[in-house]
Amino acid sequence: MEDLFLKALPLLRELKKHGRQAYFVGGAVRDAQMNRDVGDIDIATDASPEEIEAIFPKTVDVGKEHGTIIVLFEGESYEVTTFRAELEYEDYRRPSGVQFIKSLKEDLKRRDLTINAMAMDEQGRLIDYFGGLRDIREKLIQTVGDPAERFHEDALRMLRALRFMSQLEFELSPNTKKAICENRLLLAHISTERKTVEFEKLLKGKAADRALEAAAETGLYKELPGLDGKKERVLAAMAFPFHQLQKRADIWAAFIHMISIDSAEAQRFLKGWKLPGKVIKQALLTAERIDQKWDAVSMYEAGEETLLSASAIRSLRDKQAIDEQRLAEIRQSYRALPIKTLKDLAVSGSDLLNFRNKPAGKWVSDDLKRIERAVLNGELANQKKAIEEWLDSCSQI
Ligand code: ATP
Ligand code: MG
Repeated sequence: MEDLFLKALPLLRELKKHGRQAYFVGGAVRDAQMNRDVGDIDIATDASPEEIEAIFPKTVDVGKEHGTIIVLFEGESYEVTTFRAELEYEDYRRPSGVQFIKSLKEDLKRRDLTINAMAMDEQGRLIDYFGGLRDIREKLIQTVGDPAERFHEDALRMLRALRFMSQLEFELSPNTKKAICENRLLLAHISTERKTVEFEKLLKGKAADRALEAAAETGLYKELPGLDGKKERVLAAMAFPFHQLQKRADIWAAFIHMISIDSAEAQRFLKGWKLPGKVIKQALLTAERIDQKWDAVSMYEAGEETLLSASAIRSLRDKQAIDEQRLAEIRQSYRALPIKTLKDLAVSGSDLLNFRNKPAGKWVSDDLKRIERAVLNGELANQKKAIEEWLDSCSQI
């Protein structure tokens, strides 16, 4: 058993001591079977949320009505969820309620994909009722049970299927693929926020190309914000290695660039995904500058972050690799700029008023702009005296 599971083992033992069943479930079990880095460890039990709270000294109620309690233990936090069956689904999303149950098998049955529906007991034994391990070996994404039925219960599962294809580099089973083709319209019932979470994970996965291709082939892309009518562009985006980027803003900048969203449309497109204002702003700044020819003035106007992001995206697009040396050179040229902001200029607006003895007016900002350019272009030293002399000689022209 991996260290992370060993660290969480006392939680299973504690629940069992109280006469309850308890298992590791979900993504952590899947990732351990695949020898991938294990993320959050989730635990499922037949103890009720109230019992979980009574058994563990430090808990946080994050959704008791759904059966989930966070248990804090030795500096880690674990989601401990009561076995549940979901009651009727309304509108192809979230069930109208949950019913707490005693059967692990029933709990695993309501999970989305076979690979996500395995459990592990405190001895490290795998419990796999739905062929999760077989599908890991065959690198196959398929739902637990009939895919059409499962997508009717919760349509987000279609996008999750593609997200896991991308993250795990798996194929979609023919049945599951067919059901996505036939049920893609159901995705309209899902909130944008939930779609955005899954789509970002899809782009960040190693096989985003396969998942984007599947989105195009099944028509699922039509149900994603702003992508209807852009099949060719979605296919074109397959060429970009999004997983080599870290920042959210960079991923979105690269995505709008690859699907040829022009700058007039870009803001509306990103708002359609309900991204935070800060991410939108940075993505727009970067996307506009991917094909920028850099000189002192454009580097200064862009700022270091945008300059480096735009350059990295451009080299990934053109060469499929980030050229670290080239990026280091770009960073160095930026750092060598004589000024980084207007505040770095050796003169301020009030200095100009003193030099000229003229009433304030638009000329002040015009002069500052001219000085800024001259300093950036290396025509003028960033020194008060030199600037004053330069202004005198300039105004005589
Ligand atoms: P990640 O490493 O990205 O967190 P994960 O498998 O843990 O992957 P989560 O989205 O955190 O994915 O979900 C945790 C588990 O809950 C899944 O493994 C799956 O068993 C179940 N699950 C999550 N979303 C759904 C859903 N929409 N329908 C059914 N089961 C789901
Ligand atoms: Mg998870």
